[in-house]
Amino acid sequence: MKDLSARRLLLVHAHPDDESINNGATMALYAATGAQVTLVTCTLGEEGEVIPPGLAHLAPDREDRLGPHRRAELAAAMKELGVADHRLLGGAGRFRDSGMMGVEQNRRERAFWRTPVDEAAGYLVEIIRSVRPQVLVTYDPDGGYGHPDHIQTHRVAVRAADLAAERAYRRDLGDPHTIDKIYWNRVPRPVAEERFAALRGVPLPGPAGALGVGAIDDVPGVVDDARITTEIDGSAHAARKAAAMRAHATQITVDGDRFVLSNLLLQPLFTTEYYELAQGVSGAPAGERERDLFAGLAGAGSSPDGGPADGRTAPGTPGASGAVGAAV
Ligand SMILES: [Zn+2]
Repeated sequence: MKDLSARRLLLVHAHPDDESINNGATMALYAATGAQVTLVTCTLGEEGEVIPPGLAHLAPDREDRLGPHRRAELAAAMKELGVADHRLLGGAGRFRDSGMMGVEQNRRERAFWRTPVDEAAGYLVEIIRSVRPQVLVTYDPDGGYGHPDHIQTHRVAVRAADLAAERAYRRDLGDPHTIDKIYWNRVPRPVAEERFAALRGVPLPGPAGALGVGAIDDVPGVVDDARITTEIDGSAHAARKAAAMRAHATQITVDGDRFVLSNLLLQPLFTTEYYELAQGVSGAPAGERERDLFAGLAGAGSSPDGGPADGRTAPGTPGASGAVGAAV
């Protein structure tokens, strides 16, 4: 078996840009502290809308060349976050962006939404058994906000986590591996409310060309405070997150601590990122939030700020065992 890093984090996302918006600070933080960070993106986001007028010709209803362009944006974003291991599920172009719920593109051949879950999960099982992550981050069963590719990403990720652990399943894909903790991306409603209220005081249009302020319901994964189990303060990596989001220039315009998507409605840019532990055991004392995705995991090395994880003595120095994997 390969020499594995002490802490191994796998993130599974639907489209290029989702990882930077949801987890950019977390990814930069863990990459900077020597964890193995692996991103799997399920589609190339071919159906996305294009913000810069000069690139509008890439759109699916014109040249339909947005996929390769967004692949390059993703690579640039990962460079900003310091993440070397980023992969496309099944290889580039295997699964196509399905568009928003109910559109004709949902039913296309290769549309991720109509791909049988087990077929897509097989590709992820191979990655899980190779990378052997202790922690998986993905969306909730609703995909955070109901986008078919995000819902499918959730289904594929949790199915692959189950299958990867099953001893009898596809031994040709590697030795069985059980992921210790599975998290869903979240935003606490009170935090969202506070940040959106602050945005409403901003004069428009602003440098981002904003037409207005978005609605909280447009933010994926907003839930009541009580469901947040884990809070990762990535503020030291705020600049990296913003740079990664900027790299997705067809999709995002960043302006300070806010950004717009193609609807040109302002949203807050979060540098503390929030999670709900959906599977596994919390490493925090009862009633408290975890501050580390690896909290409570024996042998998972130091916490992201360099201190011992959850009061345990760190057996490994971050980065000492070397990074695993390579960019694909
Ligand atoms: Zn997406």
